[in-house]
Amino acid sequence: MRKTLIAGNWKMNTDRAAAVALAKGVAAGAAEVDGVDLVVCPPTIYLAVVGEALAGSPVALGAQNVYAEDNGAFTGETSTAMLTDIGAEYVILGHSERRALMGETDADVSKKTHKALAAGLTPIVCVGELLEEREAGKTAEVIKTQFEGSLDGITADQITSVVIAYEPVWAIGTGKVASPEQAEEVHADLRRLLSERYTPQLAEEVRILYGGSMKPGNAAELLAKPNVDGGLIGGASLKPEDFLGIAKAK
Ligand code: 13P
Repeated sequence: MRKTLIAGNWKMNTDRAAAVALAKGVAAGAAEVDGVDLVVCPPTIYLAVVGEALAGSPVALGAQNVYAEDNGAFTGETSTAMLTDIGAEYVILGHSERRALMGETDADVSKKTHKALAAGLTPIVCVGELLEEREAGKTAEVIKTQFEGSLDGITADQITSVVIAYEPVWAIGTGKVASPEQAEEVHADLRRLLSERYTPQLAEEVRILYGGSMKPGNAAELLAKPNVDGGLIGGASLKPEDFLGIAKAK
C-alpha cells in the first residue's frame, strides 16, 4: 500500500520569520494528520532555519532544486551533500517553472535525479503538459517523453525511492484544477509506463502526486482516485491550515 504524501512547495515565498512561523504551524498540527507523510520545501536560504523549526516533528524537509555536481566552481548552486548536511530528505526536481524559466531539460532532470538518489535524497520528479499540448491531444505523448527523459537510466532498485509529481502546467497557480478524472487518466498512464519499464509490482510501489491548484476544498476527490497518491501543493502550502486541511482530506 502506498502511503499518501503531501508536499508543500513554498516556491520563492516567505521571509525568515514567515518561514519559521509557517514551519512551526505545520509541525504543531501534524499530529492531527494520520497516516500521511508531510514534507515542506522552503526556499534554499531558509532550509536550515526551517529544519530547526521542524525538529522533533514528523514533518520532513525538502529542497526545491539541487545541482548535479559535488562541489567546485558552480557559483550560486547547492549540492546534494549540502542538502543532506542540513537535514533535507526530499528534493523537487524538474518543476515546470524551472523547465520554463531556467531552461531545465529532461537530461538535466535525469542527472539531478541520479545525484539525489546517490545522496539518499528522495527526488520528487515533476512532469506535466502545457495547455496547448493538452488542447492538441498531446498530453500522453508529452508525459511519456518527460517520463523517459527525466528518469533515464533509473534502475529497478532505485525506482521505488522516486516520487513522481504530475503537474499540468495550465493548472499551476491558475485556480484551474484538473478534474479528478483528468488527473487519474495521466496518473494511470504514468503507472503503466512504470509497469512497462520495470515490473507491475514495482510500479505499484511508486507514489505519484498531483499538483496544480490543489486546495482543502478539492483535495478529497483528487486523493480518492486510485492512482493519486498525494499532492504537491503551491499556494495552499503557505498557510498551515490549508496545507494540513489538504492532508486531512485523505
Ligand atoms: P499551485 O498549488 O499554487 O497551483 O502550485 C502547484 C505547484 O506548482 C506545486 O509545485
